[in-house]
Amino acid sequence: MLIIDGSQGEGGGQILRTALALSAITGTTVKIENIRARRPKPGLQRQHLVAVQAAARVCNGQLEGDALNSREITLTPQSPVSGDWHFDIGSAGSTSLVLQTVLPILLHAPGPSTVHLAGGTHNSLAPPLEFLTDSFFPVLYCIGISVTAELQRHGFYPAGGGAMSASIQPWQARVPLDLMERGKSIGRHAQVLISHLPAHVASREAQAVKHALHWSHAEVDETEVKAAGPGNCLIAKLRFAQVAAVFTAFGELRKSAEKVAQECVSQVTGYLDHDAPVCEHLADQLLLPLALGAGGRFRTGKPSDHTITNATIIGLFLGDRIVLADNGDRTWTVTVRGGTA
Ligand code: ATP
Repeated sequence: MLIIDGSQGEGGGQILRTALALSAITGTTVKIENIRARRPKPGLQRQHLVAVQAAARVCNGQLEGDALNSREITLTPQSPVSGDWHFDIGSAGSTSLVLQTVLPILLHAPGPSTVHLAGGTHNSLAPPLEFLTDSFFPVLYCIGISVTAELQRHGFYPAGGGAMSASIQPWQARVPLDLMERGKSIGRHAQVLISHLPAHVASREAQAVKHALHWSHAEVDETEVKAAGPGNCLIAKLRFAQVAAVFTAFGELRKSAEKVAQECVSQVTGYLDHDAPVCEHLADQLLLPLALGAGGRFRTGKPSDHTITNATIIGLFLGDRIVLADNGDRTWTVTVRGGTA
């Protein structure tokens, strides 16, 4: 049994998700202690609990400790099982983070799977669906992974009520990644999503983005969406020949529309300040697929604590195989050796 200290590094939910996926794929029993010890509300929150239970179901595993607020779980996996899976978080917890847990496992199942998820679809501190479909999945496609996702209904914090589904094909041919350059710029676009909030919130956000980034009227949309409760999210996409970067900021009570716009704008300008193709979030999310696939390399900005911690957890299961090298020009090259052997 592998025992993992969930308080190490950035000490959040990502340690849990990566460890669960690797446990199921490698057939290693794992005990995770001190779960989310560095978070204000430690232990399993609803999203994490559903991720734990989902991971166990898709590998026919046995679980101990899977209760709300639990700080220790043990998963004894069997092997990945394909199927038509339904997971309901029962709160506004992030559906994409539950998908992040089961996706690597289902890629190793014998047949195709569909995953239906209910909960939040646009949550702060998690990838919104647009990040998955426009930025993450296209890179996965380059390494031989076929996954698509569809939004059925937006879900925002705190009401939730969103739904999305994903179709996952078993991973056949593993291809190494070489993502060192962005390539030519081929477009940019921002979208303000708004639900059950006054229209001026969306128009002020759109205006502030156009002004700060010097983007045209046609490059910024305002969309009213149907959701169970109020929500506001601003998504900016930069498309290049070899990669797309997706940045998100969220409205919340007592945060002005201008502040939301500024948060999104500063992520965009931070990305444009260097020339690496892979943004901070894509970097931490690519490590596991690359380590399970044929490996490869990519260039990114300064690695986040999530990236460093994820590399450490992967190392516990698969041995050291991720090297982060500072290029001295505010970009880093991440090299990953692939293969589960
Ligand atoms: P905790 O509450 O313990 O922090 P968590 O389960 O919500 O846990 P983290 O451990 O913080 O999550 O991991 C969040 C994941 O979501 C990381 O993979 C991170 O890259 C990703 N993420 C966060 N914000 C964004 C964003 N704006 N766009 C894309 N991905 C994001």
